[in-house]
Amino acid sequence: SASLSVKITDIIKELMKQGIMATANQAISTDVAELVALEFGVELVVEVKKTVEEDIETEFKERERKNIQSRHPVVTMLGHVDHGKTSLLDKIRSASVAAGEAGGITQHTGAHQVNYKGHKLTFLDTPGHAAFTAMRARGANMTDIVILVCAADDGVMPQTKEAINHAQAAEVPIIVALNKIDLPGVDVNKIYGQLAENGLVPSEWGGDTEVVKTSAETGEGIDELIEAIELIAELHELKADTKIPAMGWVVESKMTQDRGVVATLLIKEGTLKKGDVILAGIGYGRLRTMRDSSGKVIKKAGPSIPVEVTGLSDVPSAGDKFYCLNDQSRAKDAAEQLKQLEREKTLSRRTNITLDNLFSQIEAGNVKELNLIIRADVQGSVDVLIKYLSELNTDEVKIKIIHAGVGGVTEGDVVLAEASGAIIIGFNVVPENQVKNIAEERGVDIRLYNVIYRITEELKDAMAGMLEPDE
Ligand code: GDP
Repeated sequence: SASLSVKITDIIKELMKQGIMATANQAISTDVAELVALEFGVELVVEVKKTVEEDIETEFKERERKNIQSRHPVVTMLGHVDHGKTSLLDKIRSASVAAGEAGGITQHTGAHQVNYKGHKLTFLDTPGHAAFTAMRARGANMTDIVILVCAADDGVMPQTKEAINHAQAAEVPIIVALNKIDLPGVDVNKIYGQLAENGLVPSEWGGDTEVVKTSAETGEGIDELIEAIELIAELHELKADTKIPAMGWVVESKMTQDRGVVATLLIKEGTLKKGDVILAGIGYGRLRTMRDSSGKVIKKAGPSIPVEVTGLSDVPSAGDKFYCLNDQSRAKDAAEQLKQLEREKTLSRRTNITLDNLFSQIEAGNVKELNLIIRADVQGSVDVLIKYLSELNTDEVKIKIIHAGVGGVTEGDVVLAEASGAIIIGFNVVPENQVKNIAEERGVDIRLYNVIYRITEELKDAMAGMLEPDE
């Protein structure tokens, strides 16, 4: 409005003429903006301004890579609580220590490098699938393979299903560890059936999901699990240049009283050395110390290796990228610009998709696929909703149900909704207050109903721009 010297209301009127019901502070696509500007006799030239970090990112992407070598896989364990994720990882780690690896003190760094009978692997310690997806939402696709841990005595549980959906949304290959196989009375076929129902058809049944029977108690199947990981890793030809200046991700970081900022970094490519100057989110600085995940002081590390470093100016966020720059002033400029941008971002949060703005977002070309998360009190209702809602596709919008499950709306649902721009539909369920607050804070729309046809009606109306506003 200001740069066209046209009143806001006139612009809104022009948008309405084009069938777009936008408010004054709503984003519209550049195509629409160009058309509207033209109506007022102005040619709009769209120029995307890049941040220093984006410049650095491009520069790093376009680097010449002459020393491509295979790297070891980065693995995340997901699954229902108490199904044995920690126990399996402990078993694998202790076997590695016994094999002569340094360390012994279990310290929490968010990532562990293990050497299991000569197989090198990195395990990420993400606290659940919500954190996994939150990281991915920031563009941190650190995980090469997900191990879905499913206890044989319990079978596929709600969080197992959630974990499957989160892993599939991330397009990461899944290996199932059918754990607690040592327990008596285990019905393997029943669980295979449950896995198959959720899109993971076991290879024993002719599908392409590797299911390994494991026991963190007896150690049974752990060798096979590691072999299955190696196999998938080989299949995906995990490779990286080992010589260029390093880049990768921040796994976690914190401010400590005695050592300043302590960050765990996972190297994606290149070599990171003590003394390197890095940019990591809003933090930058020369790396003062560097340790591997067993706490041993090291001087350099290569791809897929997690390291704990000190020397950063500020605490970066988990999921931020880091770049080895060796140019202190450039790193500082980029970090300061990021800090400024973050401040601005919290001031004007981007508009999420809600039922109320759905139509204008569709019209503005921002929505081609409507992602939904469905929650209901019983499985029968979940099935009915999936069926009915899938039938609401129109020429403009495709409905995509990215997650559906029995039970109340969870924090994981909200995180997944935020990351995927989804709306949450609840039938005969209510979210806990804490979940409601998080959703509000993040602008995620949770719609609650107790009559099924109201859901389909409202969605249809919203997609057609005929939704009655909430009073
Ligand atoms: P997490 O919540 O997925 O990390 O699960 P934990 O690793 O904490 O395991 C939960 C419980 O199951 C603990 O009491 C473990 O001792 C037990 N457990 C884990 N794996 C096995 C297994 O393979 N066999 C048996 N019998 N118990 C197990």
